[in-house]
Amino acid sequence: MSDLNDVGQQDNWRCWLCDAPVDPDASTNSDLGPSIDNFAAAKGKKGAPAIERLAHRACNTMKGKIAPVVPWSQDLFVVDPSTIFESVERLKAKGGREVVARCPSQSDADQAAAWLLDRLSRLAPGVAFETQINPGGGQFMLVLRAG
Ligand SMILES: [Zn+2]
Repeated sequence: MSDLNDVGQQDNWRCWLCDAPVDPDASTNSDLGPSIDNFAAAKGKKGAPAIERLAHRACNTMKGKIAPVVPWSQDLFVVDPSTIFESVERLKAKGGREVVARCPSQSDADQAAAWLLDRLSRLAPGVAFETQINPGGGQFMLVLRAG
């Protein structure tokens, strides 16, 4: 069992699920208060190290009872976006690549790629992700790859 302060510092006082700041001084009984999410540890993979992440109390998966949701930014123009958390779990487990969204223009795709890499640097630190943009059929596929 880690100290809340250690987990908070590890995640820079930002919620690993919604990506918004967490106030270290907020009450741990309030919805936006800090809490430790034991999601990865609760998955029960034998031999997998327990990973503890900082979450708002309201965002906490309660040891995996609630499916984690990692939203795309509202500022992006993405069509048919994949569910970020599931894509990341698949790519972490197996490597390879997935189309994670389609965008109407190259600049939309560039923005989405930059946002996604930044977001993943906090969601899955230590995993090397790359993006690729493939034009085709009048749109731009955003491809995510784990190396
Ligand atoms: Zn949150």
